[in-house]
Amino acid sequence: ALRPYIVGNWKMNGTRAMLSEARAIDRAAQRHMKVEVAIAPPYTLIHAAHREAEQIGIGAQDCHPGEDGAFTGDISAPMLADAGAKFVILGHSERRECHGESNELVRSKAEAALKAGMRVIMCCGESASTRDAGKAVKFVTDQLRASLPEIEDPDNLLTVAYEPIWAIGTGNTATVADIEEMHRAIRALLVELYGAEKGAEIRILYGGSVKPDNAREILAADEVGGALVGGASLTADSFMGIALAA
Ligand code: 13P
Repeated sequence: ALRPYIVGNWKMNGTRAMLSEARAIDRAAQRHMKVEVAIAPPYTLIHAAHREAEQIGIGAQDCHPGEDGAFTGDISAPMLADAGAKFVILGHSERRECHGESNELVRSKAEAALKAGMRVIMCCGESASTRDAGKAVKFVTDQLRASLPEIEDPDNLLTVAYEPIWAIGTGNTATVADIEEMHRAIRALLVELYGAEKGAEIRILYGGSVKPDNAREILAADEVGGALVGGASLTADSFMGIALAA
């Protein structure tokens, strides 16, 4: 089985002063090789973080589906790979909500990232109203089915992150029972899409208010292969507190 994967999503946070946190995360990660540690800083820090934090994976939070062209303000997958990015987070609920990203667009971005030689962390998650209506599992598996790329060898190139929208940045986490129910449903879908062997290896991360003090319980849950961490990834102390719990 692959190592637990602990990924920091810095979102729209971080100037060059934050590179000291990236270096501290890198140093600490080298002492905990049982865990695979990665961070996705904003675009402006990718190249510098790649140069200064050599052991951990540096990735991006989005990419354009095309390779180049007249798309003012966009960044393509080959550009990110050239800057040192090894993976791209795609389909985050903040992209789907604030930028109206459809499943089809997310899938085409994933195909572009894989073609550029990067790994993909594919996000999914339901709103509070969808969960209250009892439709969370169906919503999330439908969303993933429409967003996941076709790929021959997904086991090391593809990661799925389940992030219930109502748990992001709120301090509310899903219960272990709810996380396990969802992750088992996602596992069944991955096995259906990619086959029994490869579908079983793909890591499924949980995200949404993961902190050092709840990480142990969440990371021990069935079918949880790691965490996608927002707020608590912004300091090396709290982020590595989560990595140590894995
Ligand atoms: P928080 O850890 O801040 O809740 O964010 C989770 C998230 O959206 C990571 O992608």
